[in-house]
Amino acid sequence: MKTVKDYIRTIADFPHEGIMFRDVTTLFADPRGFRMAIDQLLHPYAGARIDKVVGLEARGFILGGAIAHQLTVGFVPIRKKGKLPGATISQAYKLEYGEAVMEIHDDALKPGEKVLIVDDLLATGGTCEAGIKLVQRLGAEVVGCTFIVDLPELGGRRLLERQGVPVNVLCEFD
Ligand code: 5GP
Repeated sequence: MKTVKDYIRTIADFPHEGIMFRDVTTLFADPRGFRMAIDQLLHPYAGARIDKVVGLEARGFILGGAIAHQLTVGFVPIRKKGKLPGATISQAYKLEYGEAVMEIHDDALKPGEKVLIVDDLLATGGTCEAGIKLVQRLGAEVVGCTFIVDLPELGGRRLLERQGVPVNVLCEFD
């Protein structure tokens, strides 16, 4: 039987030379692959209290929406700067070259709510670390971060776990 990893396509030299881009659109497009991925992402949280699912732009919206629907809880987007229409709080984080900013609506989470953060891929962990900070700044608690893919050489998992946040991944690529 095919595994989740088998459905992921690798595109060489995207978005620039030397990068092996792990393309999850082929996983999302396959009915068995997508179903398997959502089921496996949910598995560690069976019986856990989760009040909101937070998805990181953009592929985290696709996964997070399906997971929130399955759990019958609300979905909250964390977006790149300038995309959310209401009042927001912002969190800057480092990129390979320069800096980026993520935002969340300032009324999207209530203090004490338990949150699951979802994205497709964990690399350096910078994007998710910014997401964790935004959730915590609103007084909510991150019960876990869940991803389809981890790139372990980039150390993102260690970075997030050092902050006491449990990390779940479905597969790894070198
Ligand atoms: P990080 O902040 O952990 O270094 O990078 C993770 C973010 O970049 C995620 O939001 C993820 O969607 C995106 N990303 C980086 N490299 C890849 C890749 O090879 N494939 C996919 N699908 N996303 C990537």
